[in-house]
Amino acid sequence: MQDQYQRNIGYMRISVTDRCNLRCQYCMPHGMQWLEHSQILTYEEIVRLARIAITLGIRRFKLTGGEPLVRHDLVGLVSQLSSLEGCEQVTLTSNGILLAEQAEALAQAGLQAVNISLDTLDRAQYKAITGQDALDKVLESIQASLQAGLKVKINTVLLQENESQLVRLASLAQNQPVDVRFIELMPIGSGAQGRGLSPHKARKRLKQHWPDLADVQEKRGNGPAHYQASAGLQGRIGWIEAVSHTFCNECNRIRLTSTGQLKPCLCYEHGMDFRALLRGGASDEELAAQMRQLIFEKPKAHCFEDAGQITEHRQMVQIGG
Ligand code: SAM
Ligand code: SF4
Repeated sequence: MQDQYQRNIGYMRISVTDRCNLRCQYCMPHGMQWLEHSQILTYEEIVRLARIAITLGIRRFKLTGGEPLVRHDLVGLVSQLSSLEGCEQVTLTSNGILLAEQAEALAQAGLQAVNISLDTLDRAQYKAITGQDALDKVLESIQASLQAGLKVKINTVLLQENESQLVRLASLAQNQPVDVRFIELMPIGSGAQGRGLSPHKARKRLKQHWPDLADVQEKRGNGPAHYQASAGLQGRIGWIEAVSHTFCNECNRIRLTSTGQLKPCLCYEHGMDFRALLRGGASDEELAAQMRQLIFEKPKAHCFEDAGQITEHRQMVQIGG
């Protein structure tokens, strides 16, 4: 459906948990309290909301978290969502720690693509950023996902620390059909204290290595990334510049948090408590009407450039990045 600014909203990010098996510095501070299981939407509740969203034209779903694969039987949820009439796509974003062992089953259940988060190829630095010595598992997951027939994108957050790793990371696109995307650090939660690297600086580094790297007008997924290609790379290099290049006029998404809050924009805490509506006995028609209203009123733009206006004070891991 269209919102009040005539944007087509067709994509929902669904967070299935606030828990994670990593502690990325910019996403999850130490000492966070997990939510009780009863506070998290059940798979039945998630599937019901997805079915209603489909009736409003939202047909593509991305499972996120926290780390979605720490939740029991994610394969079962993928299977239920992908079997919904009208569902066009189910994809996943994962840190890759538990993905190698589940990639085949996820693909069989109908998963089409996976974004794997990876900020460095240096083992010690990986541990420093994420808190776990688990780089090998992520690399295994990339191969297992490709073998399972999933489309694979690597997501790298641009940090001061990983500047020297950017060419190595981009080289993952060299001999395999993998896109590598660089994401500007967003001032949400711990990200506000992080030291991000400017995409401009990062692009210059890659351009030194691949001088023919040039923009391509290709749409490769649901997100706001713009892509570049080089004859030396099989996959594409993507740039997601939420802060320095606002893409709000093309925004196509809403977010469902693990506690059932439907959020129209990442930047503002505003949203609607669908868990209360579901558990209060709302009918499908009532849920659809509330969803329609919330989407219609989606804010025009985020406010990352003016930190004082940001009203979302939760961590990314709690919202579902
Ligand atoms: N655990 C999964 C993962 O790491 O892919 C899914 C959830 S994680 C919150 C989703 C994505 O958000 C990851 O690619 C992560 O790097 C990114 N992210 C987290 N905090 C961020 C921030 N402050 N700015 C930009 N990206 C961020
Ligand atoms: Fe966990 Fe993903 Fe956040 Fe890292 S970015 S702490 S893997 S939720």
